[in-house]
Amino acid sequence: MSGENISALGAAMQQVDMAAEMLNLDSGICEMLKRPTRSVIVAVPIRRDNGEINVFTGVRVQHNKARGPYKGGVRYHPDVTLEEVTALAMWMTWKCAIADLPYGGAKGGVRCNPKELSVGELERLTRRYATMILNIIGPYQDVPAPDVYTDAQTMAWIMDTYSQFKGYLVPEVVTGKPLHLQGSEGREAATARGLTYCIDEAAKHIGMKLKDATIVVQGFGKVGWNAARFLHDQGCRIIALSDSKGGIYNPKGINPTKVYEHKKKTNSIITFEGGKNITNKELLETECDILVPAAIENQITRENAGNIKTRLLAEGANGPTTPEASKILTEKDIFTIPDILANSGGVTVSYFEWVQNLHREHWTKEEVHRRLKQKMVKAFKDVFDAKKKHETDMRNAAFMLAIGRVAEAIKTLGLWP
Ligand code: NAD
Repeated sequence: MSGENISALGAAMQQVDMAAEMLNLDSGICEMLKRPTRSVIVAVPIRRDNGEINVFTGVRVQHNKARGPYKGGVRYHPDVTLEEVTALAMWMTWKCAIADLPYGGAKGGVRCNPKELSVGELERLTRRYATMILNIIGPYQDVPAPDVYTDAQTMAWIMDTYSQFKGYLVPEVVTGKPLHLQGSEGREAATARGLTYCIDEAAKHIGMKLKDATIVVQGFGKVGWNAARFLHDQGCRIIALSDSKGGIYNPKGINPTKVYEHKKKTNSIITFEGGKNITNKELLETECDILVPAAIENQITRENAGNIKTRLLAEGANGPTTPEASKILTEKDIFTIPDILANSGGVTVSYFEWVQNLHREHWTKEEVHRRLKQKMVKAFKDVFDAKKKHETDMRNAAFMLAIGRVAEAIKTLGLWP
């Protein structure tokens, strides 16, 4: 956490209040939006390889289903709490609304350290957790996906557990599955690809040429590495990259593919010879045209926001900028593509996977990329139009657009009974 001492849920609540006030929303609807529809806490006992029984805590939070079935990842992490998962579920509702997907938001998790569990233990944990939430998930009810420390294998186990109970294969119950088990083409790099489509649009609006634009990327995982690769392919100059151990800087440019190969061999990017070492703090404050935080939350805070020297901030990570820092960036006239827009390419291709599964189809990579581009360009335009209409910044505009869409759905559905 930053010195601002605000929890993810605190920030999520503030965002709803802000949008509700600017949209003049009914206070009852605002209250509905601030509370998840359902939060489930489950005990997940598993037999460890040494014969002992250990009991883990699992949660699934379903925030709002006014626009469609709940959708959201499952994370395995020692820091999983109900509060954090609730904030993440809420952000999923907004992300799906911005991308105009027929989904509401959810999130789940098991409080555990997956690095200390064997593959067999992880499989038993996953199957037991899936069984405990079996009655509240389903293709038209709640569709889980991978998140921190869960992957395509985890989704295959959830799909199989659900299918065993049904008696037939139900691929559409989860997304992010392996390709040979009805996963979608293009899912792995979808978030980074969607991010680069947003960068293309933003660059047009602020009159920035991407050829030779200088790029700094924090985090070199699925989002950061793919974003660096795509931007490099577009002719941008990648001048700094980092992972959790630190960063490298070279104003003449770095080839991200060479760094990727180096990291595969040595498990680190800081020993890469084509650049000088810098800290993650220095990396964020490096002068550049485009800064892409793609690591973890709370990286740009009120302490360092004043030192950020970029023209465009494209948030690959979830929650990299605190609310106070966001205000400072707006005052500095830094154009921001906020996380709930910038990284919505992942859930968009998850939606494509669900649609393909429901129709028992398999789209080509080209088809997935074409549809993703169409969705991202439209989402960017919708947020940009909301920014102009409400005379606000891109982040506030994104929340207002999303919260307005969900509130409208709630109002039109009416309240039962
Ligand atoms: P990942 O685990 O593949 O990669 C994370 C990277 O960040 C790693 O290179 C790690 O070394 C680095 N890192 C960790 N702590 C760091 C620190 N303090 N400073 C600098 N680097 C650090 O994760 P990912 O899937 O690439 O996700 C990155 C971010 O994007 C997360 O916030 C995630 O929630 C968000 N996100 C990911 C997706 C997706 O499809 N993968 C979708 C939406 C949002």
